[in-house]
Amino acid sequence: MEDGAGASRPATGMTEKCGVVGISLAERDAALPTYYALYALQHRGQESAGIVTHDGFQQHQHVEMGLVGDAFDESDIDALTGSTGLGHVRYPTEGSLDKSCAQPFSVSFRGGALGLSHNGNLVNADEVRDELAATGHAFTSDGDTEVIAHDIARNLLEADLVRAVKRTMERIHGSYALTIMHDDTVMGVRDPEGNRPLCIGELDDGYVITSESAAIDTLGGDLVRDVQPGELVVLHEDGTGFDAYQLFERDRSAHCFFEYVYFARPDSVIDDELVYEVRRDLGRELWAESGVDTDVVMPVPDSGRAFASGYSDAAHEDGASVEFAEGLMKNRYVGRTFIMPTQEARERAVRLKLNPIRSTVEGKSVTIIDDSIVRGTTSNQLVELVRDAGAEEVHVRIGAPAILAPCYMGINMATRDELIAADKSTDEIREEIGADSLSYLSVDAVASAIGKRRDDLCLGCVTGEYPYDIDGETTDREVERPGVASADD
Ligand code: SF4
Repeated sequence: MEDGAGASRPATGMTEKCGVVGISLAERDAALPTYYALYALQHRGQESAGIVTHDGFQQHQHVEMGLVGDAFDESDIDALTGSTGLGHVRYPTEGSLDKSCAQPFSVSFRGGALGLSHNGNLVNADEVRDELAATGHAFTSDGDTEVIAHDIARNLLEADLVRAVKRTMERIHGSYALTIMHDDTVMGVRDPEGNRPLCIGELDDGYVITSESAAIDTLGGDLVRDVQPGELVVLHEDGTGFDAYQLFERDRSAHCFFEYVYFARPDSVIDDELVYEVRRDLGRELWAESGVDTDVVMPVPDSGRAFASGYSDAAHEDGASVEFAEGLMKNRYVGRTFIMPTQEARERAVRLKLNPIRSTVEGKSVTIIDDSIVRGTTSNQLVELVRDAGAEEVHVRIGAPAILAPCYMGINMATRDELIAADKSTDEIREEIGADSLSYLSVDAVASAIGKRRDDLCLGCVTGEYPYDIDGETTDREVERPGVASADD
């Protein structure tokens, strides 16, 4: 991946927004398992980390900027009493880059205490916020999560939990996977298009709802299943089970295909597909569509590894001799470089993070496999690095279609102006990054590797057509934003 922001990812530009978790246990305090789950979800957000628990009487909260390991010490975890809890790791897209937008968001109101962790991004948050503000709601942040929390709180004054959440879902439009805690009841809900992942796990003494199954594995639990698009799951307060309510059903889903390509951990299972295997299949598709029998194929670590493995397997099955090699070594101790403001600094960041193994590439034809090209800076530097190390030919293969439009659903991507593919052809990009050849994967090959209908994927950033009704953009389906004019609808 070009331009990821995580501590383990190279350079600047495309980052997941958030990871969420909600836990309900029989007796044990939920804070420590929530903390471990957040560790497992750290790749989804490094800006802030937070936990809210409920002890049956009141909520306890600790939210801090920074990585999970830095945000909590032992006394913080000890103070978070109660057998139900929510957790959140955040990388901001909408809202301020400060603690006011860190989550879980929590609020006390006449109907009790509410906590909310959100992954995704609402398209109509401003409309709902304006309408709530007009009816007397005061907001402490400009984030969309507080909008959802206020709306649910308002509905809870008039309706039970399930109806309150349903009413809010009728008003909000966009991408959301939420874990919610009302007093000591933990819930999880996924937007009707299922844009962001959310799954249910069973622990020895309770249940967990979280963004990725890797977090369930970390807790020693078993993946039960995914929360379905439009489904609300309510965990029993005593940790003995859960109830499920299918609140909305759509003909088409809009799963973010980039979860499979890049964002999710390879050891997570999303909608019944192991992400690692999907990435290997993407590599196989890449060989089938645009394979080139060079001396060596090597991944950009770490994200390109599974692609390159599938690519070389498929190549060998076809009788090609291309050899899989780890030809690019990563410095694991370089932190986030996304704050570097200048192009020159970004370019240097690539050399800080990656170094080619000269003997692997010298005098050889080389194929580099990566999962995306955002601005082109990293790819250009990579090609140069490999040529400087003595490669005779450098071919680039990308395990996803070209990114030509921004994401409005919670992925911190570049703007249209910054995206190299927004106004350049593949050959122009090839020339700009200095490669001998360049190929992207087709949308149909992506759908085939993921094992879903193309119609059930969000492909907004690679087609420019979105599954939601977004100002100034076109949609790929019949979809309309809900009206939010009336306070009582
Ligand atoms: S626009 Fe792209 S990154 Fe954003 S949700 Fe859709 S597929 Fe994912």
